[in-house]
Formats: sequence, C-alpha cells, structure tokens
Amino acid sequence: MRVAIGETFGMAPGSIATGQLVAGLKRLGFDRVFDTDFSADLTIMEEGSELIERVTTGGVLPIITSCSPGWIKFIETFYPSLLPHLSTCKLPQQIFGALAKTYYAEKEGLDPANVYSMSIMPCTAKKFEAQRPEMDSSGHQDVDVVLTTRELGRMFKQAGIDFSHIAEEKYDDPLGISTGAAVIFGATGGVMEAALRTAYELITGETLTSVEFVNVRGLEGVKEATVKVGDLDVKVAVAHGLGNARQLMDALQKGEADYHFIEIMCCPGGCIGGGGQPIPTNLEIRGQRIAGIYNADARMELRKSHENPAVQQLYQEFLGKPLGHKFHELLHTHYTPRDRYKVKNTAD
Ligand code: SF4
Repeated sequence: MRVAIGETFGMAPGSIATGQLVAGLKRLGFDRVFDTDFSADLTIMEEGSELIERVTTGGVLPIITSCSPGWIKFIETFYPSLLPHLSTCKLPQQIFGALAKTYYAEKEGLDPANVYSMSIMPCTAKKFEAQRPEMDSSGHQDVDVVLTTRELGRMFKQAGIDFSHIAEEKYDDPLGISTGAAVIFGATGGVMEAALRTAYELITGETLTSVEFVNVRGLEGVKEATVKVGDLDVKVAVAHGLGNARQLMDALQKGEADYHFIEIMCCPGGCIGGGGQPIPTNLEIRGQRIAGIYNADARMELRKSHENPAVQQLYQEFLGKPLGHKFHELLHTHYTPRDRYKVKNTAD
C-alpha cells in the first residue's frame, strides 16, 4: 500500500509515501496510526515457528501460507481436503485488530469497546475477511472497517489533503515498528523470503551473510528453490494468481509436490497487484511497485522479523513465546470447507 497510495496523487508507481500517509490519516482525525507491517513481522515469527515445529515433529507438510484472504476463500472452496496444510496463523490485518483491542488497549488503559480500528489495505478480500465470524477473538469485532488504497485516496481528496503539500509524519509506537522482512510481504515471494530469513537464523543459530533470497523473487508464475538450512534442504515453492495456485494444488493432490513450504498469493504479483490498488495496474506497474518494495527493504536497518524490538517486547509482556497458549487463543484460526454451489448462488 505504501508503494501505491502515492499514485493517487500522481507520484510514480513504487514511490514510497509512508510519511505522507501517516500525516494524511492524522489530518483525517485518527488518534493513532500504526503499521500492519508490525503484525506481518509477528506472522513470520509464528509461521516460521510452525514450519520448524511441523518439520521436527512430523506434522502436515508442506505448510502453506495463509496470509491472503482471496487465496483462503479459494482453497476453502476448491481444495478443502488440503486445508490441514494451511498455517493456522491469522493474517496480519486480523492479528493487528485483535492486538489493538487487547494488548494495546490494556497498555493504554482503554476500554476495547471504545477502540475503533480501521485497516487500509490493497485488497477487497480483506473486507470479507474482517467480517468472518471467527474474527472476534478480542471479544469485539477485531477490525471494524476496511478501506482499500483507492478508497482512502478518494477520502484524502475529498478532505482536501494533497500529498505534495504535507509534511511527513511517523507511525505511533509500539505497533508502528516494523522490519524490511515485513515490507516485502507485499510482493510475490516476499512472505517466503521473510520466513526464510527468520527460520534460517532460528534453526541454525547463525547470522545470514545475505538476507536476500533472490530465487523466490520475480514475476514468474511459479517459483521453486531449495535452501540449505543447517543439515536440512528446505524445498519451497511460490505461486501468485489463482491459475498458478491451482497448478501447485493439483500437483500436491497428486502427491507430486515435494515441498516443505509453499507461499500462495491470490493476486498477480502479490498484494502490490491487489484489487483495491490504484488503477491502472499492469505488468510494468507491478514491476515498479515491487522494485519500490525491495528498495525500501534494502534501506531498512532491521530486515528480519525476529529482530523487531516491538515484537520481542510483545512476546515478553503479553504473548509469552511463539506458538504459545495465548497466541493460539487470540491469533490462530481455523478454516471452513465451502460448498461451491452455495458460493455461486449466494453472497456468502
Ligand atoms: S494477494 Fe490479493 S487477495 Fe491476497 S491479501 Fe494481497 S491483495 Fe488481498
């Protein structure tokens, strides 16, 4: 989103407009502006730990990422027998919403009933996700409303806010701190790369010499790579767009997908090509937004999710440890096999 919102004000695709975005939201009247990338880092901590646990205890493999609601609805509908492969970790938007009304509300002495949480997303499917009945683990609807990048751009314009005349501002603490690993979530292959950065260091106890896993980058429909992690050759695959996802799922059903970890994003190019992003979106623009994301990652001081100090603090003060009881209660979820006929004929 940070690499696309500027397009609604004539900035080049891939331009980073984070500071203007925060300032604009403050002018619209929001008391606090946080970064969903904070919860993307947390997702990586949990998904990476889930991968390690499944590999070491003989759990269901390959583990498949669950951070794209369009993809989740697709697998629930067309490949329900494969649901046990999905990571049970909630998506960053929902993790954020649940924490805003529990951890943050507690810290600030707020009544969660008075916290109204709005997400700005590249994605129309996240509107559906926020309304799933299981997304109320805070005791309230975790995310109250979801606006897309385009919708927010229109709101800014209606309010007379122009990015070329606004001083940049920073996210609020502590849920505004994030790493480069979270920033690359928006590009196909980004979740995989972020997970590999963390899983490698957590498993081996060694520091990576390079954090860039270039084999999982790029706009090829299906990418594969093998990454040496200690004694283990971790086999991974990445697909974006549902045609490519179908290809991988068919192979998995036939027993022909010998992977440990699969990343799937519903939209072509990943979230940078999401249905709520500024239009037009074409191959060239997707490439520019992806380049913007990797440039932003390369410029960040912290580039691995497990190094996020606010995430470390959250575990110490509130969650305990990765895959711990509290996280499971609040931030893991379950999935629902869906009837294709019903989906076709109702607004479900
Ligand atoms: S890939 Fe598309 S459907 Fe999935 S989270 Fe991103 S924008 Fe939403």
